[in-house]
Amino acid sequence: MAEEKITEKAIKQMDSLFEAFSIIAEDTHVYICDMRYNYSRWSKTLVETFGLESEYMYDAGHVWAEHVHPDDREAYNKGIDALFTGETTEHDMQYRARRADGEYDICTCRGIIINDMEGKTLYFGGAIRNHSQGSLIDTLTGLRNQYGFFADLKSYIMNKTPIHIAMGGIRKLTEVNEVYGYQAGNQILQRFGRYLQDHVRNKSGVYRLDGSRFALISTEQNEEMFDYQYDKIREALRKGINIDGSNIILETSAGMIHLEDFNVDYQTVYSCLTYAYQQSKVKNNGDLVIFRNSLNDDNRKSLEKFHAIRASITHGFEGFYLVYQPVVDSNTEKLLGVEALLRWKNDNYGVIPPDLFIPFLEQDPLFPQLGEWIIETALSDTKKLLEYVPEAVVNINLSYSQMEKISFTDTVWEKLRKAGFSPKNLCLEVTERCRLLDMELLRNVIVTLKAGGIRVALDDFGTGFSSLGLLKNLPFDTIKIDKSFVMNIEKDEREKQLLRNFTDIAGVFGAYVCVEGIETPGMRDIIREYGIHSFQGYYYSKPITIDELLEKVKTGSYCFARDEK
Ligand code: C2E
Ligand code: CA
Ligand code: CA
Repeated sequence: MAEEKITEKAIKQMDSLFEAFSIIAEDTHVYICDMRYNYSRWSKTLVETFGLESEYMYDAGHVWAEHVHPDDREAYNKGIDALFTGETTEHDMQYRARRADGEYDICTCRGIIINDMEGKTLYFGGAIRNHSQGSLIDTLTGLRNQYGFFADLKSYIMNKTPIHIAMGGIRKLTEVNEVYGYQAGNQILQRFGRYLQDHVRNKSGVYRLDGSRFALISTEQNEEMFDYQYDKIREALRKGINIDGSNIILETSAGMIHLEDFNVDYQTVYSCLTYAYQQSKVKNNGDLVIFRNSLNDDNRKSLEKFHAIRASITHGFEGFYLVYQPVVDSNTEKLLGVEALLRWKNDNYGVIPPDLFIPFLEQDPLFPQLGEWIIETALSDTKKLLEYVPEAVVNINLSYSQMEKISFTDTVWEKLRKAGFSPKNLCLEVTERCRLLDMELLRNVIVTLKAGGIRVALDDFGTGFSSLGLLKNLPFDTIKIDKSFVMNIEKDEREKQLLRNFTDIAGVFGAYVCVEGIETPGMRDIIREYGIHSFQGYYYSKPITIDELLEKVKTGSYCFARDEK
C-alpha cells in the first residue's frame, strides 16, 4: 500500500469516526485506520497503557507488532496482511501484548473494513479489549468501577494533582437483600449511584468500588464541601428510599483523605482511605472520618510513613522484626510461653509500634505476605526456646484478613512442618475484629486448627461489642483480658466485679483466662484471687528480643517472679 501523506481533511474525517467509535466502545480501547494512507488514530488509554509514541501514527499494524508477544506475532502479522491484501474484511484474534511496564496483557482485537459505495477500502476500525485489565465500567450502575477508580487515582498521582477522595457505603445492605430481595438491593445501589451523580457530577468523579462501596474523587471540593454533602446524603437516606412501595431506611459510613503529597503510590492512598472508612463504620457510627483526624501525625507524614512500611514488605521485610513478651503461670510465675509482637524500625521514623500500622495494612493485598512472614519468623526464632522449655507455647497474633484466605490453614501446617515445630507449642490469637468475617468460615478455620492440635485464643476480650457472641459460637481455648479492664483494679471496685464476670463467663465455656497488663505486684495479688490461669505484663517483662529472652532462659530463670524487697 502506497504511503502518501495524509491530508488535513482526511484526518478530520477519521477523527469524527473515531469519536463515534469511542462513544460506542465506552471502556474498550478503540482504533481507526485510514487505509488509503495507512494512517491511524488509537485511543489515548491504549497509547498510555502500552507505551506507544503517539495517538496518531503511520503503519500502526507494524508498530503494534513490536508489542505483540513473539510467540503470537506470526499469527498476528498474517492477520494484518490478509486485511491489507483484501483477502479478508474482518479481524478477530487474541494475543498477548506488552504494556509500558514490560508485562504482557491478554487482548482480544476485533475490527472490520469499511468500504465506500464502489467497494473501495476506506477505513479499518475496531476495538482492543484488554482482559487483564478488565472493564472499567460497573454494569449495575454504569459508573466507573474499581479499576476505573485506580486508573484515575494513578493518573492524578502521576500528574501531581491535589485531590480529595471520599469512600462511602450503605450499611447493612446484606440485610436489605435478605428482607426485600436482591432486586431491591440492586435498585438501591442504582439509585444511590444516580443520586451521587446528580449531586456531585460536575465537581467529582463518581465510582462504584464493590458491594455497597462508592467513591468520589474531586479536584475542586474541599473537606467542608464533602462534609456538607455527606450530611445531605445521610439525611436523604434516613428519610428512606421508596422501592416497590416499601420505604427502606438506610444508614451510611464514609471516610475521606486529602492527597497533596505525591511520594506515595495509589495502594497506600487506598489503604488509608479504606481505614478511614472502616473507622467510620466500626467506631464513629457512620460519621465522616477524615484520615488526618484519625491519627496523631499530620496527614502528609502518616501517608509517607505508611508508604515506607508498605514498601518494606516488598523489599524482603526489611525493618520488620519480632519481640517476645513472656506469659507466666499466675501461681508459680514460671514461664509458660511468649507472645510474638511485631515492630517496624527505620532510620527516618525510629521504632513504630504495630497499633500504628497494622489496622491500615489489614485491608491491604500485601498483608497476607507479612502475616506469613510473622508466622515463619516467630517459629524459627522460638525454636531454640523449646530446647530449654519444651512445653512453652508461642502465641502469634492473626489479623482477620489472613484467615480469609482459603489456603490459610494449609499455610500454617506447612510452616510448622518446615520449622519442625509441634502444633501443641503454638497458639494463634484472634481479636474481635474477626467478626468482620463470615461466621461459618471462621468456625471452620478455628475447628480445623484445633483438630490439628493448635490452640486458639480470643484476644482483647470485652473491648468490642461481640465478645460473648464469639465465645458462644467458637471453641476458644483461652480468652485474654485486655489491660484496659485491670489498669485501675487496685482502686476500682467495678473493675473487680467486671473481672469476676469475665472469669465466670470463661468458666461456662471451659476456656482458660490470661490477664494482660500486669504492671505491679499489687495488681498481681488482687487478680490472682480470680482463678486466672496466666499473666502477662510489664511487671514480669516488657517485650524483648529473642536473644534477650534466650539469655534469661539459659541462665535458668524461667521464673519471672521479682524480688519485691
Ligand atoms: P495485643 O495483642 O493486645 O498485645 C499486647 C500489647 O500490650 C502489646 O503492645 C504489649 O507490648 C502491651 N503490653 C503488654 N504488657 C503490658 C503492660 O503491662 N502495660 C501496658 N501498658 N502494655 C502492655 P504492642 O506490642 O504495641 O502491640 C499492640 C497490638 O498490635 C497488639 O495488641 C496486637 O493487637 C497488634 N499486634 C502486635 N503484633 C502483631 C502481629 O504480629 N500480628 C497482628 N496481626 N497483630 C499484632
Ligand atoms: Ca495479642
Ligand atoms: Ca490483647
